[in-house]
Amino acid sequence: MLVVNLVNGVEVRLFSVKRARSELPQVDGLELVASQLIDVVASAGVVLDQSDLVFKSSPGAAQLGLIANGKLVHLALKDLVEQARAKAVAVEIETEIETGLNKDQTWIHAKAVQFGDRYVMLLVDDLTESKKLEDTRRDFVANVSHELKTPIGAISLLAEAITGATEDPVAVTRFAQSLQKESQRLANIVQELIQLSRVQGANLADTIDVVDLGTVIADAIDRNQLLANQNNIRLVSEIENSITLQGDYEMLVTAVRNLIENAILYSEPGGQVGVRVKVVHDVAEVTVTDSGIGIPESEQERIFERFYRVDPSRSRQTGGTGLGLSIVKHAASHHKGEIRIFSKVGVGSTFTLRLPVNASEEE
Ligand code: ADP
Repeated sequence: MLVVNLVNGVEVRLFSVKRARSELPQVDGLELVASQLIDVVASAGVVLDQSDLVFKSSPGAAQLGLIANGKLVHLALKDLVEQARAKAVAVEIETEIETGLNKDQTWIHAKAVQFGDRYVMLLVDDLTESKKLEDTRRDFVANVSHELKTPIGAISLLAEAITGATEDPVAVTRFAQSLQKESQRLANIVQELIQLSRVQGANLADTIDVVDLGTVIADAIDRNQLLANQNNIRLVSEIENSITLQGDYEMLVTAVRNLIENAILYSEPGGQVGVRVKVVHDVAEVTVTDSGIGIPESEQERIFERFYRVDPSRSRQTGGTGLGLSIVKHAASHHKGEIRIFSKVGVGSTFTLRLPVNASEEE
């Protein structure tokens, strides 16, 4: 019996050629098995005959653009098939190939195995998404380590400086103030990381409830009032009567609070921040408007990335972590909504959190 281990872990047993020769019409039996296998594999599958012509392929193989004119397109895969024939064992590779009309780079895992003396079966899995996820995870860990290292390093240096300046009370006070600022920064990063992981890992089904957006906004404003007073910013709000939707109350408050906090921190003292909510075609639009420094158009897409800041030195002054807007973006997508931005440098910014509402709950 010939045993074929498929890439996706499913073990498939085929009758050996010898047995097939004696008991089954050999070619027909193998052809039948090949056809059936290719139809059920989750991967993109191709069966090639001894002239390397495609005998049978799965729809996934066409989607990945592995075949043209009845032959394999990619050299790496042709080589693999050749090796499978030469070695008569299963061979595999992980590589990047160009696929589709746009010549997208696609990471694949491919496995080829000969069966019978005529056929080679090639199974290809698209790893691009899991590779991307892995890269994002790795970047995230690197970014977190870097972000934490800076305040931790500063705290350690400041503690050392205080120890060495016990004779100079003025210097001690100054160092202690800086120490407080750095530890606050550290606390902000940790708090926002916790918020981000909550939002990312949240299962809305567990926390969903009927949420009144007016209450969400009032709460978010309340939690920013002190910051607004400290920065001499007036907070004004305008809320249509009783707009409700199905959602996670705390997640929505966090999102609106982050938008208001940014609007305050990126405005000059004496400014005003407006928060409004209204329903337009079954979509609740929460807008937070400031007349602050604005965001250059070239940066407007990137500000939603984790740890991205337009001006890291200003963000450092304000205690910004670069995580606030990525939390907002996740919260929006959890509610099947989106976040939009309109901003002009030197004029101000408007962030609009758009959340679908159930039409029957609007009134
Ligand atoms: P941070 O904690 O640095 O504020 P965010 O993710 O909340 O991080 O925002 C990312 C960046 O987007 C900020 O560092 C800032 O450069 C820019 N930004 C966000 N909101 C505003 C705003 N209302 N006005 C101007 N710039 C803003």
